Amino acid sequence: MTQNWKDKFVFRIKKLLGMNVFLCDNCKWNWRGACHDTARPNATKCPEYTRRGS
Ligand code: SF4
Repeated sequence: MTQNWKDKFVFRIKKLLGMNVFLCDNCKWNWRGACHDTARPNATKCPEYTRRGS
């Protein structure tokens, strides 16, 4: 519950600052053959997220 509240707060702040809030944009699985998550390409929370280049 606390984590959820914190995630929402961080998300709002980032959005207000005009920061990129979508994880998929710099995730290395962001292509059709690799990711079947229905949240792609607009996931804001994802346990499979891996930064591109790592
Ligand atoms: S693994 Fe998650 S963050 Fe990466 S492309 Fe798929 S939905 Fe987006």
